[in-house]
Amino acid sequence: MSSTPTPKSAYEALCAAQSALNEHARRGMDVGRVPHWVATIGVLLRQIETVRPLANNGKHGELHTDSCGCEGHTGPWSIVMWPSEATT
Ligand SMILES: [Zn+2]
Repeated sequence: MSSTPTPKSAYEALCAAQSALNEHARRGMDVGRVPHWVATIGVLLRQIETVRPLANNGKHGELHTDSCGCEGHTGPWSIVMWPSEATT
């Protein structure tokens, strides 16, 4: 497996981080900070979804973009960390 994150692997890693943080909080650790971290990760996840869109069923399916990472769609990708239209 390549160490260069694809939109899919980055998305999965961030989802795993959210789950781990929630579990962390459930055990009483960093409870005050976890919601902020989870929300921040959520912003990143939504940005990745602009590169690799997901349907309502949570699957990417055929919603390809030039750089979603699927076969034939492996253009360079990036996300805007703090988009001007970011909501709280
Ligand atoms: Zn695709």
